[in-house]
Amino acid sequence: MNRKNDENNIDASVKTNQIDNNGIVHLSNGIKLELSQCKLIPPGSNDYVNVVMMFSLENMYDPIIKCPNCDSTIPWDRPILLMDNMQFVYPCSDCKWVWERQSFNMRKFRIENR
Ligand SMILES: [Zn+2]
Repeated sequence: MNRKNDENNIDASVKTNQIDNNGIVHLSNGIKLELSQCKLIPPGSNDYVNVVMMFSLENMYDPIIKCPNCDSTIPWDRPILLMDNMQFVYPCSDCKWVWERQSFNMRKFRIENR
């Protein structure tokens, strides 16, 4: 196994409470990773996908304010990810990794697609 290629791959064993609001992943072995540089594995898949961009509620056209999974309030500065499979990932600090296809509409996309 090539550790260099795998070290930024994050699976469900990394808990969302290991992600801080600056998008830094704090692994249990003390290593810190930039979440925006990581690859994540969607539920029910074996293939990692790349982060396209990281944003927060202030960048959204029509912000949702509740976690799509547990309804807890999303902090204004909590990172949300757009993945290259066009899904959004919200690392909810109150529940889990939330994968959604449509819940998060970004202002940037609205402008580009009008
Ligand atoms: Zn939640």
